[in-house]
Amino acid sequence: MPPHHGGAHMGLSPMNRARLVIFNAALGPLDYRVPEGMAVEPGSVVVAPLGPRQIVGIVWEEERLPASAVPDSRLRPLIGVIPVPPLQAALRRLIEWTADYYCAPIAAVARMVLASGGALRGPATITEYRLSGGAPERMTPQRAAAIDARGGEQATIRELAGIAGVSEGVLRGLVNQGVLEPVEVDCDRPYPRAGADFAVPELSEDQAQVAGRFVVAVEERRFAPFLLDGVTGSGKTEAYFEAIAASLRLGRQTLVLLPEIALTEAFLRRFEDRFGAAPVVWHSSLKSTERRRAWRAIAAGTAQVVVGARSALFLPYRNLGLIVVDEAHEISFKQDEGVRYNARDVAVMRARFESLPVILASATPALESLQMAESGVYEKVELESRFGGAEMPSIDTVNLTEEPPERGRWLAPRLVEGMRERLARGEQSLLFLNRRGYAPLTLCRKCGYRFQCPNCTAWLVEHRLSRRLACHHCGHETAPPLACPECGEPDCMVACGPGVERIADEVAAIMPEARIAVATSDTLNSPEKAAEFVAMAEEGAIDVIVGTQLVTKGFHFPELTLVGVVDADLGLEGGDLRAAERTYQQVAQVAGRAGRGAKPGEVLIQTRHPEAPVIAALAGGDRDAFYAAETEARRHAGAPPFGRWAAIIVSSEDEAEAREAANRIGATRPVLPDVAILGPAPAPLSLLRGRYRYRLLINARRSAQVQDVIREWLGALTFPSGVRVSIDIDPYSFV
Ligand SMILES: [Zn+2]
Ligand SMILES: [Zn+2]
Repeated sequence: MPPHHGGAHMGLSPMNRARLVIFNAALGPLDYRVPEGMAVEPGSVVVAPLGPRQIVGIVWEEERLPASAVPDSRLRPLIGVIPVPPLQAALRRLIEWTADYYCAPIAAVARMVLASGGALRGPATITEYRLSGGAPERMTPQRAAAIDARGGEQATIRELAGIAGVSEGVLRGLVNQGVLEPVEVDCDRPYPRAGADFAVPELSEDQAQVAGRFVVAVEERRFAPFLLDGVTGSGKTEAYFEAIAASLRLGRQTLVLLPEIALTEAFLRRFEDRFGAAPVVWHSSLKSTERRRAWRAIAAGTAQVVVGARSALFLPYRNLGLIVVDEAHEISFKQDEGVRYNARDVAVMRARFESLPVILASATPALESLQMAESGVYEKVELESRFGGAEMPSIDTVNLTEEPPERGRWLAPRLVEGMRERLARGEQSLLFLNRRGYAPLTLCRKCGYRFQCPNCTAWLVEHRLSRRLACHHCGHETAPPLACPECGEPDCMVACGPGVERIADEVAAIMPEARIAVATSDTLNSPEKAAEFVAMAEEGAIDVIVGTQLVTKGFHFPELTLVGVVDADLGLEGGDLRAAERTYQQVAQVAGRAGRGAKPGEVLIQTRHPEAPVIAALAGGDRDAFYAAETEARRHAGAPPFGRWAAIIVSSEDEAEAREAANRIGATRPVLPDVAILGPAPAPLSLLRGRYRYRLLINARRSAQVQDVIREWLGALTFPSGVRVSIDIDPYSFV
C-alpha cells in the first residue's frame, strides 16, 4: 500500500503514536505506534493489527478521545495508511457532535463517513460486459432473458445476473461465445461537468430576491441557516438552484438532500435542464462500483453537486460550499435504526462546523424549524405566490357522515362526479390514500380469523397486484392461503378497509374507460419505474393516479386539476404525538399537486370530522391558524420545540428477558425536577422482527441535559447479551 504524505506539513513533530477510532463498537479507541517513515495526522485512515486480524481505523486527536494509556513499549505498529484524503477537522467535530447528541458510539457515526469499502482500495479498473451484437449458438430462455435485460446495459457479470434474473453461469457462457464482450472501465472516471450558466432561467421578482440572499451567503462562505418557506409550486427549487450556481462558480461542492429516492428522478431532470449535466447521486441502492466512484469523487472534490438520501450527509466532501435540504419537514430524514439521527438537524450542524449556508426548503415546515426562525436562529425567506401566475387550488371538505359513499365503496358521490368531469375534459385526477396494498386487514369470513405477521404485532396486508400477504414492518410475505388456517374454510379471505389497490378497483368499476395508475413504493420501486410513471402522466397517458405519500410531492403534472383525499382522518388515529402536523403536511402537499398549470385546481378532502382544527385549517387555507393552534398545543404539552423527548427501547427475542431489563431500567430511573420519565410499557409494536419490545418515554424541559442523564442512568446497568437497549433522541416514531 503506497504511503500517503498528507502529514508532511506537520513539520518538526511527526506523530510517533496514534489513537484510533476503530470500527468495533465494543472496543473503544486503541493506541498504536507510528513506524519510522510513516506520516499520519488526525483524520488519516489507516490499517492496524487487532489480534491476528487487520482493521481499518481513523487517527483521532488523543486529547479528544479518552482511552486508558498504554506505554510506548507495548504499542503495536500501524500497518499502513490508506491513500485517501484524511478526514477534515470539521468533519471529525461533526462525528463527535453526532455521537454525543444521539448517544451513539463514535465508531458507528464514523462508519457512515467511510461508506464505501471499495473506495478505500486504490485506483482500479473493473471489467464490465456489454452485448457485442453476436448471437449465441443456441438460444435458451435464460439466454434470451440475459440478452434482453434492460436493453443490454453494461455492467459486471454479477450485476447483469441480478438485472436479468439469471445465474452468473448463463452469462459466462455468453462471454465464452462472444455474445458479451468485456470492457475495461476506469472506476474513477470523472463525472460530466455541470455548468453554472448552462441555462440561466428567468426568475420572478420574488424568486430573484430570495436567490440573491442565498448567493451572498454562498459567496461570503458563512454559517447561515435559511428556512425557505414557500407554497407548493412557488418555485423554491429555481431559487435554490441559483445558490448552487454560485457554489459552482466558486468551484465548491454542493450537497442536496432529498427525502426519497423516488423523487430523485424528477429532480435530476430539472437539474440537468438547468446545469447541462446530471449531479452525482448517492443512495443505498447504488451498485458498489457507483458507490466507490461517487465516494472518491466526493473526497477528491471533483463531484460538484451531490444529490442524495440522508446518508449522503456524512460523506467526506473536500470543499463543501452549500447544503440544501429539500422537503425538510419530511420524517424520512430521521433514521430509525443504528445511529438514530435526523439528517435535517445534523445538516445544520455540518454547515455550522464548516461555516456554510444551509437551506431548509419546505412548503409545510416542521414546527421546530418555524420556531427556530421565530427565535432568529434561522433566517426565514418566503415565496408567497405560485410561479407563472398559477392560482392556489380551491379546497373543500366532503363530510362522509352527510354525503356517504355507496355501500361497500369509499369515494363519495361529489368526488366521483368531479373525477367524471375531469375524465370528460381530458384532465387528470389524483386520489391520495396513505395505505399500500389492497386492504389493511384481512379476515376469514367464517370464523373471523385475522391474518397476522408471525414476527410482529401487525396485520398482514393483502397485495392483490402481486398476489401476496405482506407485513409492512418486517417484510414477511406469504402467498394468500387457499383455506383458513384456523377453521379450514376454503376461499375464505375478506378484505377490511381500503388500500390504494382497492380504491383503484373502485375507480375502474365506476369509470371503466379511465386509465388508472397505482403509485406507491411497491409499484414505483426503482428510479426507472418512477421515470416511466412520470413520463406517462406527463404525456396524458394516465387519467387517474391512486397513490400514497409518494405522490404528495415533487411531481408537476399540468393537466392534474382534481385531488381527492380519500380519508383525511386516517393520520389522526393512533397515538402519534405529531399526528396533526403530519396530516396537515401530507394533505397540504398533495393538495399542492392540483392546478399547477394554467387550469385551476380543486381539492376535495373526505372526512368524518370537518370541524377538527387541522381539517378546518386545511379547508380554510389558513395555515397560520393551524400552526398557531398546534404551537399552543405543543407548548401546553411540553412537546418539541418547547420541551424535549427521548425514548429508550428495550428489546429481546425472549419476552421475559425484555420485560425484566425494561423494569430494571424503570426501577433505577433518576428523579429530577426537569425530567419526567414514563413507562416502561410494551411498545405499540410489542413484537417486531421477532423481538419483544418495551419503551420508556422521557419528556424534559429544554434546559435539561437529557443525554447526560440517560448516559449516566444506563451506564450504571448491565444487561444479558440478548437484550438490546436503543436510545432515540428527538424520536419521530412511537411504535
Ligand atoms: Zn376461518
Ligand atoms: Zn412482520
